Amino acid sequence: MKSRTAYVGEKTFSNRIRKGFARRPWEYIFNSARYAATRDNRNYNWGITYEEFLKFVEQKICHYCGDNIPWPLPHGGRDALGNYRSGHHLDRKDNAKGYSVRNCVVACACCNRTKGNMLSYEEMLVIGKMRRDKRENARAETTCAV
Ligand SMILES: [Zn+2]
Repeated sequence: MKSRTAYVGEKTFSNRIRKGFARRPWEYIFNSARYAATRDNRNYNWGITYEEFLKFVEQKICHYCGDNIPWPLPHGGRDALGNYRSGHHLDRKDNAKGYSVRNCVVACACCNRTKGNMLSYEEMLVIGKMRRDKRENARAETTCAV
């Protein structure tokens, strides 16, 4: 019989399946992103399908600065180091508009916070490039401390 290796977070995942939340990979993260965007105090339009969301999670680096994106696990839960990973890493290019494939890029928490409501998409591209250059010049594998 083939041996079965348990992975970190499996217990949490099976609980979620039981509750009917996460049948497919990334579905839990997708639902949580949609909830975060559309809940009462944010109330943005949500125009991203599950299939479209899968294209976003394939992107492993920040659209602006090129840093690695610490995506959660496909079924949520803790990573190998025991850290709970969360975050949706979607940035709206135009803050006046809601979430759609056209209006969203994958961005690290650092760039997302930097851009906030103050900077435009074009301005953030410039800052992201500065951040990328600085990191490459320092030749250090740094990630944004979140
Ligand atoms: Zn970034």
